[in-house]
Amino acid sequence: MSNPYKRVLLKLSGEVFGGGRIGVDPVVVSGIARQIAEVVSDGVQVAIVVGGGNFFRGAELSQSGMERERADYMGMLGTVMNAIALQDFCEQAGVPTRVQSAITMTQVAEPYIPRRAVRHLEKGRVVIFGAGAGMPYFSTDTVSAQRALEIGCDALLMGKQGVDGVFDSDPKTNPQATMFDELSYDDYLAKDLKVADAAAISLARDNALKMVFFNLSVEGNIRKAAHGDQIGTTIVR
Ligand code: UDP
Repeated sequence: MSNPYKRVLLKLSGEVFGGGRIGVDPVVVSGIARQIAEVVSDGVQVAIVVGGGNFFRGAELSQSGMERERADYMGMLGTVMNAIALQDFCEQAGVPTRVQSAITMTQVAEPYIPRRAVRHLEKGRVVIFGAGAGMPYFSTDTVSAQRALEIGCDALLMGKQGVDGVFDSDPKTNPQATMFDELSYDDYLAKDLKVADAAAISLARDNALKMVFFNLSVEGNIRKAAHGDQIGTTIVR
């Protein structure tokens, strides 16, 4: 199998980890880990940013009365739980894996050290970044663009729960919604689409980072995305 990408950043939405519920669904996460193991054995270096929407979203908690910053820290801690779960299943699938957290918690994860992350990747280890940016008001989408840039990834692969790519309107509520195969960063921003936040898209645009949105819920899609096959929606200049 040819590898157009040497190193990819895979963003896994938290929603998928819970299989639609709160918490971690071991069947789903072990399936994702097996796909990641295949990609690594194909010779592609894989770094991962995990979301936390299956536990807490700061904006939602703050709407129900919590202080926003505290709620965001809860959201970030949720991403670390997902990171640890994924590490466990990746190692069960035979891939050595390191978790790096943007919030220091050395008993469970290394601190975020980009050069060390690159070293792990070069040795064939998967690196999972948890705790987002370690800062409230950010999203794991934005962090995935930042990490992809900082550790020199060739593409940012945005895996979403149950959605095939970027649509002109929400396919869950509008059956007429149509999917884009390709879209420019500027068109994405002008249309005010909500699949990833605008900060992530503009960071990718300003630094010419290729983004691919694809459906994580379809078995085999991670491998297709990591091999640069036409899948989902590609955002380019
Ligand atoms: N979060 C944050 N700063 C970050 C990343 C995440 O405050 O750098 C918090 C925020 O509250 C967010 C939650 O963590 O709602 C979970 O992340 P996200 O919503 O991005 O997860 P996903 O939607 O991908 O599952």
